[in-house]
Amino acid sequence: AKSRGRNRYAFYSPDMAARTRERMLIEQGLVRALEDNSLTVYYQPVVDMADGSLVGMEALVRWQHPELGLVPPDRFIGVAEESGLIDGIGAWVMRTACTQAMIWLAKYPIELRLAVNVSVREMAADNFVDRISHTLQETGFPPQNLEIELTESTLQSIEHSQGLLYQLKALGVSIAIDDFGTGFSSLGLLKHLPIDRIKIDRSFVRDLPADSNDIAIARAIAAIASSLGLQMTAEGVEEKAQQQFLHELGCQNAQGYLFSRPLAREEFEQLLSGDKQN
Ligand code: C2E
Ligand code: CA
Ligand code: CA
Ligand code: CA
Repeated sequence: AKSRGRNRYAFYSPDMAARTRERMLIEQGLVRALEDNSLTVYYQPVVDMADGSLVGMEALVRWQHPELGLVPPDRFIGVAEESGLIDGIGAWVMRTACTQAMIWLAKYPIELRLAVNVSVREMAADNFVDRISHTLQETGFPPQNLEIELTESTLQSIEHSQGLLYQLKALGVSIAIDDFGTGFSSLGLLKHLPIDRIKIDRSFVRDLPADSNDIAIARAIAAIASSLGLQMTAEGVEEKAQQQFLHELGCQNAQGYLFSRPLAREEFEQLLSGDKQN
């Protein structure tokens, strides 16, 4: 219930108190997390839709909090964005993932594409493009193997930073729109931004190939991708029937539990060295 007037917190419940406390713990913890090694990066394999062969990986941050345990990114990325801590975290994830992926590129004869999630809040920093450029130089990671994932729900503000996306492209990196179909971006916006790939959101994949609405949505997205010359990745592919359906639609890449969960560094390394296939 909404309270009126001065006494706004009259209905403050123990539940809200617990949530507020958790939020504070998260924010305070994040300040320390960058120094105490409690953040790690997991790597989810991205595969060729046709045969399931490995083409790359998405870097996904993980946080082991001393009191709260393993905190999923959905619960701390928002807090990090609001508190400004996302700049430090994003920079750390980018540096860690590029360093690791460079080791794998040198060690294994496979052309891997590394995808890294970037919050639009990060892009607002003055030195954002310089920071990416510096990380690429420092780690030696080839820019053409890096893909930056931006969430569609924030495309509205990306429209204002169109120039930034062109600067990123000039570095040689590619750009993907994440969670495609969940936001409100117009198709015109897609046309005017230097986008290389769209990722169809898990929510549209889940009920394929049974749900007729999702069939229609998946077809429409595939048609947009193909007519604009964009690559397409499906996320949350858990069943063979989903893979088959999306493959027939012309979707090139997939990630999901059917192929692999996000893996710790050592697990991903095992996959590369072939241990897991034998
Ligand atoms: P996302 O970018 O859409 O990442 C995909 C999420 O789907 C991941 O959740 C992944 O573990 C999960 N997933 C993958 N395959 C399947 C599947 O087959 N079924 C189901 N049910 N789920 C699957 P995760 O790792 O918890 O990340 C959640 C979100 O947090 C990400 O969504 C992304 O928006 C954000 N995030 C993660 N790491 C970073 C980061 O380093 N920086 C930023 N800015 N955001 C990040
Ligand atoms: Ca993503
Ligand atoms: Ca996504
Ligand atoms: Ca998502």
